[in-house]
Amino acid sequence: MSTFHVNQVRKDFPILDTKIHGKPLIYFDNGATSQKPTQVISRINRYYENENANVHRGVHYLSDQATQAYEEARTNIASFIGASSPKEIVFTKGTTDGINTIAYSLGELLQVGDEILISGMEHHANIVPWQLLCERKGTILKVIPVLEDGTLDLEAFSRLLSNKTKLLSVVHVSNTLGTINPLDFLIKQAKSVGALVMVDAAQSIQHLPIDVQTLGCDFLVFSGHKVFGPTGIGVLYGKLDLLNSLPPYQGGGDMIDQVTFEKTTYQEAPLKFEAGTPNIAGAIALSEAFHYLNSLDLQSAFAHELTLGQYLRANMKDLPSMRFIGEAPDTCATLSFLVGKIHPLDLGTLLDKQGIAVRTGHHCTQPLMHRFNIPGTVRASLAFYNTQEEIDQFIIALERSIHLLS
Ligand SMILES: *Cc1c(COP(=O)(O)O)cnc(C)c1O
Repeated sequence: MSTFHVNQVRKDFPILDTKIHGKPLIYFDNGATSQKPTQVISRINRYYENENANVHRGVHYLSDQATQAYEEARTNIASFIGASSPKEIVFTKGTTDGINTIAYSLGELLQVGDEILISGMEHHANIVPWQLLCERKGTILKVIPVLEDGTLDLEAFSRLLSNKTKLLSVVHVSNTLGTINPLDFLIKQAKSVGALVMVDAAQSIQHLPIDVQTLGCDFLVFSGHKVFGPTGIGVLYGKLDLLNSLPPYQGGGDMIDQVTFEKTTYQEAPLKFEAGTPNIAGAIALSEAFHYLNSLDLQSAFAHELTLGQYLRANMKDLPSMRFIGEAPDTCATLSFLVGKIHPLDLGTLLDKQGIAVRTGHHCTQPLMHRFNIPGTVRASLAFYNTQEEIDQFIIALERSIHLLS
């Protein structure tokens, strides 16, 4: 029996009570960022009110407390994603920062002609850092094509793999289409040619159970703000021996062992990748978000969300001139669509007037928009705190907006 009670859980998210243009907020833009529970918000306050000090430095009481809380956050997050050691958790600014770290650092070890494989549904954050690397080092970027239904062309993927492939960097769940990519297959194939694998989990950590050791990926990145934590903090998971074998990304305080003007030696991972004072409050609050998730019946929460996604799709599909972008059999509760010739921005604006937050545009996936020959989409992306009543209201508002714009 499900022990997930959505109306109870909604009370933990104060913003959900907000009124927008006089209407109750219906927040369907969780793909852009998630809302925060009181537990996370008050953890930030508690840190600054009672515990604030710099980490890894002072001998004094507060610094020791802050260091402990910061390192406990690492341990808690390691355990949430099934890492074998807290040392495999590097705190970053977010997904973008994590990918750039690896693109720079691993990139230093790559040679002219080495290949990096990404997919046609990547976020710009998993495209541009590789293009910068290719310009810098003469590596080659290859792209797995996306099929009409919004899944990856797995035959083309197998053909693209070779002993030149040094890294597969692929999104777990598409932020635009909701497609869940077959990571097990992708990782197994990539490993068979000796490639490393990085997973962009920015849209999966908050929707699916993740265990990095079962997956067998080498790196995995996500952003705190999309998994009910604060902005400005994220996680780069990396296998420990691999992290230790990579050169540092940025230099500065905290990442060094010994510094002289002649030669500097570095800390081991993860500190080697955390130059400068880190986002201490962010890391602690992100850990609190995972404590919060652990306090829920997560399996039921995820099931609730998937049921909502199916309900949304079922209720939208018969609306006149409705076109879904992406109809993969395996998706999260994220849905991109267009209606006839109506511009996504116009639809988004009218929905906003009715209190509904959706995202419109290219969703930082311009190449994917080119693939479907469209300028953008309207995207509804759900979280476990959304309800069936909100979807019913959304459908009414959507019909009204379509009517006004047709
Ligand atoms: C949001 C997102 C990113 C970028 O995350 P930031 O928090 O902006 O660094 C990368 N990939 C995917 C799939 C995303 O949804």
